[in-house]
Amino acid sequence: MDGLSNIGTIKEILSKHGFTFSKALGQNFLVNPSVCPRIAEQGNARKGFGIIEIGTGIGVLTNELAKRADKVVAIEIDSRLMPVLAETLSEHRNVKIINDDVMNVDLRQLIEEEFPGLEVAVCANLPYYITSPIIMMLLEKRLPVRTVTVMVQKEAAQRLCAPLGTRDAGAVTVAVRYFSEPELLFNVSRGSFMPSPNVDSCVVRFSLREETPPGVTDEAFFFKTVRAAFSQRRKTLANSAASGLGLPKSRVAEAIASAGLPESVRPEQLTMEQFIAFANALQDN
Ligand code: SAM
Repeated sequence: MDGLSNIGTIKEILSKHGFTFSKALGQNFLVNPSVCPRIAEQGNARKGFGIIEIGTGIGVLTNELAKRADKVVAIEIDSRLMPVLAETLSEHRNVKIINDDVMNVDLRQLIEEEFPGLEVAVCANLPYYITSPIIMMLLEKRLPVRTVTVMVQKEAAQRLCAPLGTRDAGAVTVAVRYFSEPELLFNVSRGSFMPSPNVDSCVVRFSLREETPPGVTDEAFFFKTVRAAFSQRRKTLANSAASGLGLPKSRVAEAIASAGLPESVRPEQLTMEQFIAFANALQDN
């Protein structure tokens, strides 16, 4: 539908369908016409690509994705939006809507069935209440996906994309960098949404790695160690990891030394290679 992201059109559609926003579902819809084309273009919505969208709202981004990509499969949890989407996306023959919680959808099977012969990318203006679980699910499943391009709250974007070894880094930063190369693309002000949230947003893109960093002997133990390391922020790695893993501090200190790190090191100072060396040393001793 033309002009779909104009605020007047959106208000008219919503009132026609008697739609009221659900705060619990993170429903802040985009009403700035310049944002969706940029997400679509920088998110690989182009010929040869199938796109998975998470959370359609009334379909403003879906519409831009469908204009550019070969096919779009969009997953939306709110059944009240189904009649709205039937109207707003009626001109597109390459869109399929799945009315479900994205966390319940088998995305590997979806990709196999819906996108044979196509490259795949994910694009979304994510519901903020579930941003990290969705991103981690997309990365950890090692799906055959080239990029994940999503709008998230600015603060979350800074943590997700922080370089390791800097103050903003956390357990999620290590996990994101293990599976992908993250990039901050552009900021979106709170006034671009209806209703307007209390914070600004940012579009980020994760380019998935073909191979994860070498040297991890046990992935589950590696991530358990990373989570423990950051479990008490601003404490030393020795204190935080010992309490997070329930191990004697002397054992953790030995692993820190054998990874070639100083005793007083803090978790946010470690590089990926140093986290890997520390986790392996901890497991060995
Ligand atoms: N893409 C639209 C836009 O930009 O205007 C809507 C974005 S809004 C921030 C998030 C959307 O995700 C809402 O439509 C909401 O109903 C949907 N949603 C929330 N939780 C979801 C879930 N677990 N699975 C699928 N969709 C979900």
